[in-house]
Amino acid sequence: MNQSKDVDSRFSSSLELEVSRIYADADAEVKSAGPVCLSSGKCCRFKEYDHTLFISSMEAAVLLKHAPHYDKPTNPGFCPFQKENLCTAREPRPLGCRIYFCDPAYQGKMVELSEKYTRKLKDLADEKQLPWHYAPLHHFLDNPENAVAL
Ligand code: SF4
Repeated sequence: MNQSKDVDSRFSSSLELEVSRIYADADAEVKSAGPVCLSSGKCCRFKEYDHTLFISSMEAAVLLKHAPHYDKPTNPGFCPFQKENLCTAREPRPLGCRIYFCDPAYQGKMVELSEKYTRKLKDLADEKQLPWHYAPLHHFLDNPENAVAL
């Protein structure tokens, strides 16, 4: 399926475009699965919801290039891009943010989609001969030099 018409026009480099196409395909599959979101915002308040968001150095590069300013050091308990329960980095948000929903009926599909699209990102990194550094979001927020160069 060609998702290029859905790709945000700010993604300008070749690598960004390829990452954003993978995101667009993941978004389409998540939409088709139809998980329920009650906009609690808990998924972005990691400590409160007891989970960790892992991202790759490639996703970090896209996120950090386009996300709004944030202050360092960050607090690992929540994401600095969440404001009033909404994501202020919606277009460049990483894969986990796109796939993760707390809907109990969606948990099996979530694991399946996470594995499928993480594999696609990994394959892209291998194809581009880029390092695959996979770490919690805050690692890259506080050490942006560890993101790959776009
Ligand atoms: S980038 Fe957006 S969706 Fe992802 S954790 Fe931060 S606020 Fe939530």
